[in-house]
Amino acid sequence: MKAIAVFPAKRDVKLITSNPPKLEHPTQVKLRILEIGICGTDREICAFQYGTPPPGADHLVIGHESLGEVVEVGSAVSRVKVGDLAVLRVRRPCPHATCVACRAGRQDFCYTGDFTERGIKGAHGFLTEFVVDDERYMNPVPAALRDVAVLVEPLAIGEKALLQLWQVQQRLPWACPVTPGKPPAVCHTAVVLGAGPVGLLGAMALIANGFKTWIYSRGLPTDPQAIFAQAIGATYACSQIETPEQLADRLGNIDLVYEATGAAQISFQLMEVLGTNGVFVFTGIPGRKGPIELDADRIMRNLVLKNQIVYGTVNAGPLAFEVAIKDLGTFMQRWPDAVRSLITGRYPIEQAPELLLGSSSGIKNVITVNGAR
Ligand code: BGC
Repeated sequence: MKAIAVFPAKRDVKLITSNPPKLEHPTQVKLRILEIGICGTDREICAFQYGTPPPGADHLVIGHESLGEVVEVGSAVSRVKVGDLAVLRVRRPCPHATCVACRAGRQDFCYTGDFTERGIKGAHGFLTEFVVDDERYMNPVPAALRDVAVLVEPLAIGEKALLQLWQVQQRLPWACPVTPGKPPAVCHTAVVLGAGPVGLLGAMALIANGFKTWIYSRGLPTDPQAIFAQAIGATYACSQIETPEQLADRLGNIDLVYEATGAAQISFQLMEVLGTNGVFVFTGIPGRKGPIELDADRIMRNLVLKNQIVYGTVNAGPLAFEVAIKDLGTFMQRWPDAVRSLITGRYPIEQAPELLLGSSSGIKNVITVNGAR
């Protein structure tokens, strides 16, 4: 079967062939991979800045944003059946008895760092024709989401951020006032920093959860991302035209910043204008670019005097995937064309290397592995 692999020592990214995997345990499932999304992490792995092959291997099969169809199930499988669509979670637990997170099935909070991530760290990924894994790492997806379900993994990153937000904000009276017989008031303002897939999917989740949502990014107001913002009821602001300070003057109290750029300078400038009781969530992973200047006194003063919270979040657990699948269904009811417009290109597996190595374009590019439509 075909697969796309990175050979770090040889500095090569190419199509390889290997034997299809077989079921080895009664709880395993075989998926025929339909589509794989490409993201910044994959591009970094293909630039040899990130990513680790499995122990003893000279290459890593990449791909972690998946959609597959179940083609075979072990005798003890109960979560999925042949013909179902499913997405795979990415991270697998570390082996240490002391890691309470991994032992509880929450390797997205692994303490030791010895987790593996399929297609990223120490385990082959999904950009190949067939994948076998334990049913516990799969989330079934309704057939109605076939065309967009490859977006579940990047959406799950945002859903994990929001699941934590609800918990964090239980620290204070935060719910918007409710008038009986009226729709719930919109009383919280969120700024999404960055207009890549994680940002745009996060913006949809925020709007669906009742936030007045702004998308703040470098692209000009004529860019497709700005048009997308309008289509879902967000307001677009361009960081080339408006500084974070000017943006904050326009918005009033910024209750949430959902960072999805991996760009440190603009992130910390935006943190300087975070509002009272505000929360700043980081999801982007910056490359090492050297020190930046920031007004640390102002940030620290605000953190204390405005009761602010800052947290980072990575990967996504079972509940975040479940919520992502449910929310994607809601988004498709509400904004079907906008959701579909996020997938800006579909390419055959043979074209994956040039797509991964060339300059990035579009919003979400997808490799169609099987079942082209
Ligand atoms: C993936 C996560 C992963 C992270 C760090 C992201 O691109 O979506 O699942 O945990 O990279 O490796």
